[in-house]
Amino acid sequence: MTTADDFYAHYSRSGKAGWFGRLGSLRQSIIQCDGPAVMEILKSRCDIDLEAPEGCWIWNGATRSGYGFIGRGKTNKLAHRVSWEAARSFTEELGWLSVHHKCGVRLCINPRHLVAVSHLENTIEMLERQAYLRRISDLEKALNAVDPGHVLLAKLPRPLNENWDAL
Ligand SMILES: [Zn+2]
Repeated sequence: MTTADDFYAHYSRSGKAGWFGRLGSLRQSIIQCDGPAVMEILKSRCDIDLEAPEGCWIWNGATRSGYGFIGRGKTNKLAHRVSWEAARSFTEELGWLSVHHKCGVRLCINPRHLVAVSHLENTIEMLERQAYLRRISDLEKALNAVDPGHVLLAKLPRPLNENWDAL
């Protein structure tokens, strides 16, 4: 079942004439599988650094569990999943695949930062990240114990895990 089919079936069942015209431009574009139009609308709902358009596109609309969220009822969608599909003009279906944020920023919907993976792959990567973070933390503590003034400790970035994908 494609994204467009989901939307079409839901609104057709609502049974009222003219249902399509009452939809917002985003839903209309999704139903029409108009990838470029959907991407433009999605981008207009993001904070994008115009000096660095290759960076994260931070969703500034509704969210759920820390992710961008669009729609309501049975047609709701996670914004980053719609972005992944729209970037391919809805010719590839995600199905049960997860969409992983390579940048680690849940609110980002830049399709270049998104990759479709199996849930297992996503979980493995998350566990590897957590293992690395624990290892880094242990090494920091050990270094701090023997040399609290070490230059590496002074240059530590803020914790990297706060935005990392938990899926
Ligand atoms: Zn990003």
